[in-house]
Amino acid sequence: MSATVLWKAKSKLAGAIGHLGGYAIARQLTQRSPRILMYHRFSPDGSGKGLAVDEFEYQVREIARHFRPVTLSQLVKELNSPQGPGPKSVVITVDDGYEDFHRYAFPVLRKHGVPATVFVTTDFVDGSLWLWPDVLEYALDHCAKKHVSIQVQGQTVEIDLSNADSKKAGWSRLVSTSLSLPDARMRELHADVLRQCGVVLPASPTDEYKPLSWQQIREVDSAGIEIGAHTRTHPALSRIPPERLEEEIAGSKRRIEQELGHPISTFCYPNGTPDDINEQVKATVRAAGFCGAPVAFFDKRVTDDLHELRRYPVGAWRRKFLQAVHGVELLARGHA
Ligand SMILES: [Zn+2]
Repeated sequence: MSATVLWKAKSKLAGAIGHLGGYAIARQLTQRSPRILMYHRFSPDGSGKGLAVDEFEYQVREIARHFRPVTLSQLVKELNSPQGPGPKSVVITVDDGYEDFHRYAFPVLRKHGVPATVFVTTDFVDGSLWLWPDVLEYALDHCAKKHVSIQVQGQTVEIDLSNADSKKAGWSRLVSTSLSLPDARMRELHADVLRQCGVVLPASPTDEYKPLSWQQIREVDSAGIEIGAHTRTHPALSRIPPERLEEEIAGSKRRIEQELGHPISTFCYPNGTPDDINEQVKATVRAAGFCGAPVAFFDKRVTDDLHELRRYPVGAWRRKFLQAVHGVELLARGHA
């Protein structure tokens, strides 16, 4: 069968499997391909800022029942070995280093004996930094005005703050604008948003946006959760001056190792879109001694490049999670 015919057949099969719920077949066909899942925040019931803890537990149970959960460094080690990765490998990764990981996700992982890799932004954990999407959310949420106009790149962004939906739309617009700007210009934009909103940002993140403490990080590390680095200040690495790359990348590694007392070996690119990564960024990640680094998007190149490992974003949509973890997504992309 030609590659195209095979791919078409697999795509058709993938569609049918999703409808019929034949996840066992998909799992079997794709068992040699590891899946790396991407999470960010957790919450008690899903109504707030993160995945509901019950839904996360459902997902962890599904992973424990049908797969072989490993940390990212374990997977990389196996990818580097002549035999390749063990069958049915799944890696749970959690980005940023919010305190809600310790509060909600960690007890679930411990209960089911499932490891994970948590990427922490070190200035955030040190309490001297807000993660930038939170700065925008805090500014819009605490603004007393019903409407603000923000000047950016010669254009005016009008934000209606009169209801939750329009506020959310305004926040999304500012986030996507931020992602297109050089880091320094982006920080200026955020200062301007705060000014226009008449909001003063507290020096450290408030409870809603709180990071893990180093004590909590040491606790989860000694319980089998792998800690990886996610830079010092969460910049778009392709849009900072190259002389800052070493400090952001190797600097975050040094800071974590100082607190844990042992080496770490994995790194995660902030934002993680194709635009956030370039050859110089990757070279700096390799030179810092990281054996593997995931991005925040998925395509069929899954594990072709250890410093651009593909990940599935996981949310509360159960069917999407099941399709991703059982390999239906992989089959749909012609990779098995
Ligand atoms: Zn991040």
